[in-house]
Amino acid sequence: MILRNAWRWSLVALTSAVPHAAEAAWMERTEAIMGTRVYVQLWAEDQLKGNAAIDAVMADMRRIDALMSHYKPDSQLSQINAHANSEPVQVDKELFDLLKLSTHYSQITEGAFDITYASVGYLYDYRHRIRPTEEQITKALPGVNWRNMLLDEVHHTVRFEHPGMRIDLGGIGKGYAVDHGVAILKARGIQHAVVSAGGDSRILGDHMGRPWLVAIRHPDDPKKVVTRIPLSDSAMSTSGDYERYFDENGVRYHHIIDPRTGHSASKVRSATILAPTATQTDGMSKTAFVLGPEKALEIINRMPEYDAVFVCPDGRVLYSNGLRPPLPRPAGASPPAATATSPRVTP
Ligand code: ADP
Ligand code: MG
Repeated sequence: MILRNAWRWSLVALTSAVPHAAEAAWMERTEAIMGTRVYVQLWAEDQLKGNAAIDAVMADMRRIDALMSHYKPDSQLSQINAHANSEPVQVDKELFDLLKLSTHYSQITEGAFDITYASVGYLYDYRHRIRPTEEQITKALPGVNWRNMLLDEVHHTVRFEHPGMRIDLGGIGKGYAVDHGVAILKARGIQHAVVSAGGDSRILGDHMGRPWLVAIRHPDDPKKVVTRIPLSDSAMSTSGDYERYFDENGVRYHHIIDPRTGHSASKVRSATILAPTATQTDGMSKTAFVLGPEKALEIINRMPEYDAVFVCPDGRVLYSNGLRPPLPRPAGASPPAATATSPRVTP
């Protein structure tokens, strides 16, 4: 089964040794929400309840989209973009908290993740092959700086300190929505599921006693697999320069923007991040494009909850420490302590 271009999930345990009640089943559904493919697959002991659980996840995704979409003029995010240049704009605590969290990712990624990228980002239209001129970029670039987005914790207001600023949550909203989806399923007693939106996915539980096998695609060929990773109870985001882009004179213009230059960030072709939640993985999956794989690995390796796989422009595949296959042991050496809990890449 292919989940969006970036993903290939293979069910490693299609049959289970445990006999199921007649009405229990794996159920799945795909819907177009948040400008992308939202996918839910779950194991339901009762199919009516399973269907209602999927309904609830999809409804919540639509709710989050109505609050945070920059395409919808009525969304609170659009209200911020329309008015925060001239006055503080009050928003729901939920949106306020996500804006605040986005500044946390700006901090730990040394500014690579920056929702004010949109001050320049809105000048690109990948579908219509439109990109800004150097003059337009130079003019808009001073609007890109998350430190100029002032958040008032008491009143839950947002104000822009620089003219021409805009924000966009396209780089974290889907991960956030996926985590919400998983929380909804858990609250309804679901124990095995996958929720995915665009490049952001989270697995709840395992696949009836065995991990899910997730394949990372080749950047130039959706049918080719770079590596497979077994995963349970974990989130995973893949960002790629092949998702929204156009090529012109040998240059790829794609949707991940370097906040320092206003140009597409191309230091890797794809970046896959693993961590407990999809908000975490989404918030970190743009870093290597901007800072380069070595710097991004340094950051990821400092944070025990995270792992990463980067596909470089020259075809190299780099893994964080937690995913590196163990080195062969010299003869006579004692075995390493069995403490590793992070997933291991299988050959
Ligand atoms: P997907 O939306 O498919 O999950 P990504 O997680 O790779 O894809 O996020 C890409 C999106 O992130 C872009 O379409 C844009 O909305 C936003 N974005 C682009 N550059 C940045 C950046 N430097 N910081 C934060 N968000 C960004
Ligand atoms: Mg994402």
